[in-house]
Amino acid sequence: MQYKLDLKKNNLFRKDKKPLIISGPCSAESEEQVIETAKQLADSNVKIFRAGIWKPRTRPDTFEGLGSVALPWLRRVKEETGMLTAVEVANVWHLKEALKYDVDILWVGARTTANPFAVQELADGLRGLDIPVFIKNPINPDIELWIGAFERLNKAGIKKLAAIHRGFSYYGHSPYRNMPQWEIPIELKRRIPELPIITDPSHICGNRELLFSISQTAMDLDFDGLFIESHYRPDSALSDKDQQITPDELKTLLAGLIYRKSDVNNIRQMEGLNEYRRQIDHWDTELIRVLRNRMSVSEEIGRYKKKENITILQTGRWSEILEDRLAKARCLGMSDEFIIKIFKQIHQESISFQNKVMN
Ligand code: PEP
Ligand code: MN
Repeated sequence: MQYKLDLKKNNLFRKDKKPLIISGPCSAESEEQVIETAKQLADSNVKIFRAGIWKPRTRPDTFEGLGSVALPWLRRVKEETGMLTAVEVANVWHLKEALKYDVDILWVGARTTANPFAVQELADGLRGLDIPVFIKNPINPDIELWIGAFERLNKAGIKKLAAIHRGFSYYGHSPYRNMPQWEIPIELKRRIPELPIITDPSHICGNRELLFSISQTAMDLDFDGLFIESHYRPDSALSDKDQQITPDELKTLLAGLIYRKSDVNNIRQMEGLNEYRRQIDHWDTELIRVLRNRMSVSEEIGRYKKKENITILQTGRWSEILEDRLAKARCLGMSDEFIIKIFKQIHQESISFQNKVMN
Protein backbone atom coordinates (compact mmCIF):
# COMPACT_ATOMS: atom_id res chain seq x y z
CA MET A 1 0.00 0.00 0.00
CA GLN A 2 1.13 3.53 -0.76
CA TYR A 3 2.31 5.53 2.24
CA LYS A 4 -0.07 8.38 3.02
CA LEU A 5 1.48 11.55 4.42
CA ASP A 6 0.25 12.48 7.91
CA LEU A 7 0.38 16.29 7.86
CA LYS A 8 -0.40 18.70 10.69
CA LYS A 9 -2.09 22.03 10.08
CA ASN A 10 0.51 24.72 9.83
CA ASN A 11 -0.49 28.23 10.80
CA LEU A 12 2.07 29.69 8.43
CA PHE A 13 -0.35 28.76 5.66
CA ARG A 14 -3.68 30.44 6.26
CA LYS A 15 -6.17 30.94 3.48
CA ASP A 16 -6.86 34.51 4.62
CA LYS A 17 -3.12 35.33 4.78
CA LYS A 18 -2.18 33.88 1.42
CA PRO A 19 0.45 33.94 -0.06
CA LEU A 20 3.20 33.26 2.47
CA ILE A 21 6.19 35.41 1.50
CA ILE A 22 9.74 34.30 2.27
CA SER A 23 12.63 36.54 1.35
CA GLY A 24 16.21 37.42 2.21
CA PRO A 25 19.65 37.03 0.67
CA CYS A 26 20.90 33.97 -1.15
CA SER A 27 23.76 33.91 1.38
CA ALA A 28 24.45 35.59 4.69
CA GLU A 29 27.61 37.56 3.85
CA SER A 30 28.14 39.96 6.76
CA GLU A 31 26.27 41.12 9.84
CA GLU A 32 25.58 44.47 8.19
CA GLN A 33 24.19 42.87 5.00
CA VAL A 34 21.91 40.53 6.98
CA ILE A 35 20.58 43.17 9.38
CA GLU A 36 20.19 45.92 6.77
CA THR A 37 18.39 43.64 4.32
CA ALA A 38 16.12 42.38 7.11
CA LYS A 39 15.30 45.92 8.32
CA GLN A 40 14.35 46.96 4.80
CA LEU A 41 12.10 43.91 4.49
CA ALA A 42 10.49 44.34 7.89
CA ASP A 43 7.69 46.69 6.78
CA SER A 44 6.64 44.46 3.85
CA ASN A 45 4.56 41.29 3.72
CA VAL A 46 7.61 39.14 4.29
CA LYS A 47 6.89 36.73 7.12
CA ILE A 48 10.02 34.59 6.94
CA PHE A 49 13.59 35.77 6.47
CA ARG A 50 15.79 33.35 4.52
CA ALA A 51 19.58 33.30 4.33
CA GLY A 52 21.97 30.60 3.16
CA ILE A 53 24.60 29.70 5.76
CA TRP A 54 26.13 26.68 3.98
CA LYS A 55 25.95 27.01 0.19
CA PRO A 56 25.94 24.05 -2.19
CA ARG A 57 27.87 25.61 -5.08
CA THR A 58 28.23 24.03 -8.50
CA ARG A 59 31.95 24.74 -8.70
CA PRO A 60 34.56 24.95 -5.92
CA ASP A 61 36.47 28.20 -5.38
CA THR A 62 33.20 30.14 -5.20
CA PHE A 63 31.63 31.52 -2.04
CA GLU A 64 30.42 28.57 0.03
CA GLY A 65 28.77 30.46 2.87
CA LEU A 66 30.17 31.67 6.18
CA GLY A 67 28.88 28.76 8.27
CA SER A 68 27.83 28.98 11.92
CA VAL A 69 29.34 32.44 12.56
CA ALA A 70 26.38 33.89 10.64
CA LEU A 71 23.71 32.20 12.77
CA PRO A 72 23.70 34.78 15.62
CA TRP A 73 22.86 37.45 13.01
CA LEU A 74 19.68 35.55 12.16
CA ARG A 75 18.77 35.52 15.83
CA ARG A 76 19.18 39.31 15.77
CA VAL A 77 16.86 39.50 12.76
CA LYS A 78 14.20 37.69 14.76
CA GLU A 79 14.60 39.90 17.82
CA GLU A 80 14.76 43.17 15.90
CA THR A 81 12.14 42.62 13.18
CA GLY A 82 9.81 39.88 14.41
CA MET A 83 10.26 37.89 11.18
CA LEU A 84 10.80 34.15 11.48
CA THR A 85 14.04 32.71 10.13
CA ALA A 86 14.77 29.91 7.66
CA VAL A 87 18.01 28.23 6.56
CA GLU A 88 19.00 25.39 4.28
CA VAL A 89 20.29 22.26 5.99
CA ALA A 90 22.04 19.45 4.14
CA ASN A 91 23.33 17.30 7.00
CA VAL A 92 22.87 16.62 10.72
CA TRP A 93 25.64 19.04 11.69
CA HIS A 94 23.84 21.90 9.88
CA LEU A 95 20.63 20.86 11.58
CA LYS A 96 22.13 20.93 15.07
CA GLU A 97 23.81 24.27 14.50
CA ALA A 98 20.60 25.85 13.14
CA LEU A 99 18.58 24.61 16.11
CA LYS A 100 21.15 25.95 18.56
CA TYR A 101 20.41 29.43 17.21
CA ASP A 102 16.60 29.03 17.24
CA VAL A 103 16.10 28.96 13.49
CA ASP A 104 12.33 28.56 13.00
CA ILE A 105 12.08 26.78 9.66
CA LEU A 106 14.47 24.51 7.81
CA TRP A 107 14.60 23.86 4.11
CA VAL A 108 16.13 21.02 2.17
CA GLY A 109 17.90 22.23 -0.99
CA ALA A 110 17.36 20.85 -4.49
CA ARG A 111 20.70 19.08 -4.61
CA THR A 112 20.05 17.37 -1.27
CA THR A 113 16.53 16.25 -2.22
CA ALA A 114 18.08 14.45 -5.18
CA ASN A 115 20.05 12.22 -2.78
CA PRO A 116 17.98 9.73 -0.72
CA PHE A 117 20.95 8.89 1.55
CA ALA A 118 21.27 12.55 2.56
CA VAL A 119 17.51 12.95 3.00
CA GLN A 120 17.34 9.82 5.18
CA GLU A 121 20.19 11.11 7.37
CA LEU A 122 18.36 14.40 7.81
CA ALA A 123 15.13 12.54 8.61
CA ASP A 124 16.93 10.51 11.28
CA GLY A 125 18.41 13.69 12.75
CA LEU A 126 15.00 15.36 12.82
CA ARG A 127 13.24 12.48 14.60
CA GLY A 128 11.32 13.73 17.64
CA LEU A 129 11.44 17.42 16.65
CA ASP A 130 8.46 19.60 15.84
CA ILE A 131 9.80 22.07 13.30
CA PRO A 132 8.43 23.04 9.87
CA VAL A 133 10.54 21.74 6.99
CA PHE A 134 10.21 22.91 3.39
CA ILE A 135 11.54 20.58 0.72
CA LYS A 136 12.74 21.89 -2.63
CA ASN A 137 12.15 19.79 -5.71
CA PRO A 138 15.14 17.68 -6.76
CA ILE A 139 17.17 19.23 -9.59
CA ASN A 140 15.95 16.51 -11.97
CA PRO A 141 12.26 16.41 -12.93
CA ASP A 142 11.37 13.36 -10.84
CA ILE A 143 8.20 13.74 -8.82
CA GLU A 144 8.64 10.35 -7.11
CA LEU A 145 12.01 11.44 -5.69
CA TRP A 146 10.39 14.64 -4.40
CA ILE A 147 7.50 12.73 -2.81
CA GLY A 148 9.99 10.21 -1.41
CA ALA A 149 11.72 13.00 0.51
CA PHE A 150 8.40 14.07 2.08
CA GLU A 151 7.73 10.47 3.04
CA ARG A 152 11.15 10.02 4.67
CA LEU A 153 10.71 13.12 6.84
CA ASN A 154 7.08 12.38 7.60
CA LYS A 155 7.92 8.85 8.74
CA ALA A 156 10.42 10.45 11.14
CA GLY A 157 7.55 12.46 12.64
CA ILE A 158 7.89 15.78 10.76
CA LYS A 159 4.31 16.85 10.07
CA LYS A 160 4.62 20.50 9.10
CA LEU A 161 5.88 20.03 5.59
CA ALA A 162 5.69 22.22 2.49
CA ALA A 163 7.08 21.96 -1.03
CA ILE A 164 9.27 24.55 -2.72
CA HIS A 165 9.08 24.53 -6.51
CA ARG A 166 12.43 25.90 -7.81
CA GLY A 167 12.49 24.54 -11.35
CA PHE A 168 14.42 21.72 -13.00
CA SER A 169 17.80 21.42 -14.58
CA TYR A 170 18.28 20.97 -18.36
CA TYR A 171 21.07 21.16 -20.87
CA GLY A 172 21.20 23.91 -23.51
CA HIS A 173 19.86 27.43 -23.93
CA SER A 174 16.75 28.65 -22.14
CA PRO A 175 15.49 31.97 -20.78
CA TYR A 176 15.35 30.26 -17.38
CA ARG A 177 18.11 29.02 -15.13
CA ASN A 178 15.85 26.10 -14.24
CA MET A 179 12.78 25.09 -16.26
CA PRO A 180 9.55 25.73 -14.34
CA GLN A 181 7.80 22.57 -15.67
CA TRP A 182 4.59 23.64 -13.96
CA GLU A 183 3.02 20.27 -14.69
CA ILE A 184 5.16 18.73 -11.93
CA PRO A 185 4.03 20.91 -8.97
CA ILE A 186 0.47 20.71 -10.38
CA GLU A 187 0.69 16.92 -10.28
CA LEU A 188 2.11 17.14 -6.73
CA LYS A 189 -0.93 19.20 -5.71
CA ARG A 190 -3.23 16.65 -7.32
CA ARG A 191 -1.56 13.77 -5.48
CA ILE A 192 -1.14 15.49 -2.08
CA PRO A 193 -3.73 18.31 -2.00
CA GLU A 194 -3.08 19.23 1.65
CA LEU A 195 0.66 19.88 1.04
CA PRO A 196 1.30 23.64 0.61
CA ILE A 197 3.37 24.62 -2.45
CA ILE A 198 5.67 27.63 -2.50
CA THR A 199 7.24 28.80 -5.76
CA ASP A 200 10.85 30.03 -5.84
CA PRO A 201 10.95 32.39 -8.86
CA SER A 202 14.56 33.38 -8.09
CA HIS A 203 16.07 29.96 -8.76
CA ILE A 204 13.70 29.29 -11.66
CA CYS A 205 14.62 32.54 -13.43
CA GLY A 206 18.25 33.14 -12.55
CA ASN A 207 17.61 36.76 -13.59
CA ARG A 208 15.53 39.68 -12.35
CA GLU A 209 13.47 40.32 -15.47
CA LEU A 210 11.31 37.19 -15.38
CA LEU A 211 10.62 37.12 -11.60
CA PHE A 212 7.31 38.90 -11.89
CA SER A 213 5.78 36.67 -14.54
CA ILE A 214 6.78 33.48 -12.72
CA SER A 215 5.36 34.88 -9.46
CA GLN A 216 2.09 35.77 -11.19
CA THR A 217 1.80 32.30 -12.72
CA ALA A 218 2.30 30.77 -9.25
CA MET A 219 -0.50 32.97 -7.92
CA ASP A 220 -2.75 32.12 -10.88
CA LEU A 221 -2.22 28.46 -10.06
CA ASP A 222 -3.37 29.17 -6.51
CA PHE A 223 -0.02 28.13 -5.00
CA ASP A 224 0.53 29.02 -1.36
CA GLY A 225 3.64 31.16 -1.23
CA LEU A 226 6.63 32.81 -2.87
CA PHE A 227 10.31 32.43 -1.99
CA ILE A 228 12.26 35.31 -3.51
CA GLU A 229 15.86 36.29 -2.88
CA SER A 230 16.57 39.89 -1.85
CA HIS A 231 19.73 41.72 -0.91
CA TYR A 232 20.40 45.30 0.18
CA ARG A 233 23.06 45.54 -2.57
CA PRO A 234 22.25 42.81 -5.09
CA ASP A 235 24.95 43.82 -7.57
CA SER A 236 27.66 43.02 -5.06
CA ALA A 237 26.15 39.75 -3.79
CA LEU A 238 28.64 36.90 -3.37
CA SER A 239 26.24 34.29 -4.79
CA ASP A 240 23.32 34.44 -7.25
CA LYS A 241 23.73 38.17 -7.83
CA ASP A 242 21.90 38.23 -11.18
CA GLN A 243 18.63 37.05 -9.66
CA GLN A 244 18.56 39.02 -6.40
CA ILE A 245 16.54 42.22 -6.03
CA THR A 246 16.44 44.96 -3.40
CA PRO A 247 13.77 44.89 -0.67
CA ASP A 248 12.12 47.88 -2.40
CA GLU A 249 11.99 46.04 -5.72
CA LEU A 250 10.45 43.09 -3.91
CA LYS A 251 7.74 45.35 -2.46
CA THR A 252 6.97 46.70 -5.94
CA LEU A 253 6.83 43.18 -7.36
CA LEU A 254 4.44 42.01 -4.64
CA ALA A 255 2.24 45.09 -5.00
CA GLY A 256 1.89 44.45 -8.74
CA LEU A 257 0.69 40.87 -8.39
CA ILE A 258 -2.95 40.08 -8.96
CA TYR A 259 -4.29 37.75 -6.30
CA ARG A 260 -7.38 36.24 -7.82
CA LYS A 261 -10.25 35.43 -5.53
CA SER A 262 -13.09 34.28 -7.71
CA ASP A 263 -16.27 32.28 -7.35
CA VAL A 264 -16.13 28.60 -8.21
CA ASN A 265 -17.38 29.10 -11.74
CA ASN A 266 -14.76 31.72 -12.47
CA ILE A 267 -12.03 29.58 -10.96
CA ARG A 268 -13.10 26.73 -13.23
CA GLN A 269 -13.09 29.02 -16.28
CA MET A 270 -9.81 30.58 -15.27
CA GLU A 271 -8.21 27.18 -14.78
CA GLY A 272 -9.43 26.11 -18.21
CA LEU A 273 -7.99 29.22 -19.78
CA ASN A 274 -4.78 28.98 -17.78
CA GLU A 275 -4.23 25.46 -19.00
CA TYR A 276 -4.23 26.76 -22.60
CA ARG A 277 -2.06 29.71 -21.63
CA ARG A 278 0.47 27.42 -20.01
CA GLN A 279 0.66 25.48 -23.25
CA ILE A 280 1.21 28.71 -25.20
CA ASP A 281 3.87 29.80 -22.69
CA HIS A 282 5.54 26.43 -23.00
CA TRP A 283 5.66 26.51 -26.82
CA ASP A 284 6.80 30.13 -26.92
CA THR A 285 9.63 29.25 -24.55
CA GLU A 286 10.51 26.29 -26.77
CA LEU A 287 10.42 28.58 -29.84
CA ILE A 288 12.91 30.93 -28.21
CA ARG A 289 15.13 28.02 -27.22
CA VAL A 290 15.01 26.53 -30.72
CA LEU A 291 15.78 29.90 -32.31
CA ARG A 292 18.71 30.42 -29.95
CA ASN A 293 20.08 26.99 -30.74
CA ARG A 294 19.76 27.76 -34.47
CA MET A 295 21.67 31.03 -33.97
CA SER A 296 24.42 29.13 -32.14
CA VAL A 297 24.88 27.02 -35.26
CA SER A 298 25.08 30.25 -37.29
CA GLU A 299 27.86 31.43 -34.99
CA GLU A 300 29.68 28.14 -35.55
CA ILE A 301 29.26 28.51 -39.32
CA GLY A 302 30.55 32.07 -39.04
CA ARG A 303 33.69 30.88 -37.26
CA TYR A 304 34.18 28.13 -39.83
CA LYS A 305 33.75 30.52 -42.78
CA LYS A 306 36.20 32.94 -41.22
CA LYS A 307 38.77 30.19 -40.79
CA GLU A 308 38.25 28.93 -44.34
CA ASN A 309 37.89 32.42 -45.83
CA ILE A 310 34.43 31.87 -47.40
CA THR A 311 31.75 34.61 -47.92
CA ILE A 312 28.71 34.75 -45.61
CA LEU A 313 25.94 34.86 -48.18
CA GLN A 314 25.59 32.02 -50.62
CA THR A 315 22.41 32.69 -52.59
CA GLY A 316 21.95 29.16 -53.84
CA ARG A 317 21.79 27.81 -50.32
CA TRP A 318 19.24 30.43 -49.21
CA SER A 319 16.85 29.59 -52.12
CA GLU A 320 17.15 25.90 -51.27
CA ILE A 321 16.33 26.58 -47.62
CA LEU A 322 13.25 28.59 -48.51
CA GLU A 323 11.91 25.99 -50.97
CA ASP A 324 12.46 23.17 -48.51
CA ARG A 325 10.85 24.99 -45.54
CA LEU A 326 7.86 26.08 -47.64
CA ALA A 327 7.22 22.52 -48.76
CA LYS A 328 7.43 21.22 -45.19
CA ALA A 329 5.18 23.96 -43.81
CA ARG A 330 2.58 23.44 -46.56
CA CYS A 331 2.21 19.83 -45.46
CA LEU A 332 1.37 21.13 -41.98
CA GLY A 333 -1.23 23.59 -43.26
CA MET A 334 0.74 26.82 -42.89
CA SER A 335 0.55 29.63 -45.43
CA ASP A 336 3.45 30.49 -47.76
CA GLU A 337 3.13 34.14 -46.82
CA PHE A 338 3.72 33.45 -43.12
CA ILE A 339 6.64 31.07 -43.68
CA ILE A 340 8.37 33.44 -46.10
CA LYS A 341 8.05 36.31 -43.61
CA ILE A 342 9.36 34.26 -40.68
CA PHE A 343 12.25 32.69 -42.58
CA LYS A 344 13.37 36.02 -44.03
CA GLN A 345 13.67 37.34 -40.49
CA ILE A 346 15.44 34.24 -39.24
CA HIS A 347 17.84 34.36 -42.18
CA GLN A 348 18.56 38.02 -41.55
CA GLU A 349 19.28 37.38 -37.89
CA SER A 350 21.49 34.38 -38.74
CA ILE A 351 23.56 36.60 -41.00
CA SER A 352 24.02 39.14 -38.24
CA PHE A 353 25.05 36.37 -35.79
CA GLN A 354 27.60 35.13 -38.37
CA ASN A 355 28.74 38.68 -38.94
CA LYS A 356 29.38 39.24 -35.25
CA VAL A 357 31.81 36.34 -35.04
CA MET A 358 33.49 37.10 -38.37
CA ASN A 359 34.27 40.76 -37.69
C1 PEP B 1 19.01 28.64 -2.35
O1 PEP B 1 17.81 28.71 -2.07
O2 PEP B 1 19.82 29.54 -2.17
C2 PEP B 1 19.50 27.41 -3.04
C3 PEP B 1 20.74 26.97 -2.90
O3 PEP B 1 18.58 26.90 -3.83
P1 PEP B 1 18.42 25.48 -4.60
O4 PEP B 1 18.56 24.40 -3.57
O5 PEP B 1 17.06 25.61 -5.16
O6 PEP B 1 19.48 25.43 -5.67
MN1 MN C 1 20.47 31.30 -4.23
